[in-house]
Amino acid sequence: MPRILFTIACGALAATVLGGPAQAQQPPSPPARPTFATTKVEGTEHVYIFRYQNSQAMFIVTRDGVIATDPIGYGRPQAVTTYLEEIRKITNQPIKYVIYSHHHFDHIAGGKPFKDAGAKFIAHRRAKARLAVLKDPHTVLPDETVNDTATIKLGDTALELTYIGLNHSDNSLVMRLPKEKIIFAVDFIPVASVPGRGMIDSYPLEWEESLKKVMAMDWERLIPGHPAPGGRLGTKQDVQNLLTFLQEASAEVRTAAREGKCWDPVEKEMKLPKYANWPGYEQNLPFVLRRYCGLWGRGT
Ligand SMILES: [Zn+2]
Repeated sequence: MPRILFTIACGALAATVLGGPAQAQQPPSPPARPTFATTKVEGTEHVYIFRYQNSQAMFIVTRDGVIATDPIGYGRPQAVTTYLEEIRKITNQPIKYVIYSHHHFDHIAGGKPFKDAGAKFIAHRRAKARLAVLKDPHTVLPDETVNDTATIKLGDTALELTYIGLNHSDNSLVMRLPKEKIIFAVDFIPVASVPGRGMIDSYPLEWEESLKKVMAMDWERLIPGHPAPGGRLGTKQDVQNLLTFLQEASAEVRTAAREGKCWDPVEKEMKLPKYANWPGYEQNLPFVLRRYCGLWGRGT
């Protein structure tokens, strides 16, 4: 142990000595991002984003209570208690609803403090069916389910919930605020970044159709479930860009798959250089290629 420490210390010293003059030329690095943040969406009266590390959820404060969404507490119960505390800094109104975007635990685990506060949990019916089988001890089962559409009305707010088909999951809901023209959509529209591990259980062909349906809806700004680069909101152009990316990745792998190149040659050698500047490209491209090899090289 002491030897390891000594080595690290020497290395750090060498880096300091050798790297000193060069570092002086570098601009100062940006301040580290805080663990969590609550932001009111610009131009709205009562729509907020709660971010914890790299996940986020929308909540709406109405005159008759709060509509919250995804608890984002997988492996970090403190995210949920922080989420509640952040809401309590804004209002003492009761938290009436928690809406699940889809059934993946990284977005919906940890909701018990909201349940204890009296919230009613709502999700797509297939999300409830999946959760009922899995019995995850950290995830609250939905109290009510949605088939295709539902509207939550609370105070002066209407929140439309729409199931628009298979995509990243088989139970993703789009949450739309018609007055504000804002949607909250999680994981099936990563904004300006390459989708990654979540490709594994996605439905690639149907996903393209659901993106076209989202673009046909009436909205201007998209709150994603993981912050976009710089924390900006998404636009319909982002949805179009993602659709183009998926279509191009699909077509490239389809050609290679029909030449017998799935899995290994595609996964190890294929590149999509047009997207090399999208965050996550290097790390996530293999997951994209594997999913399309599953589709075109295997049949599912
Ligand atoms: Zn997901």
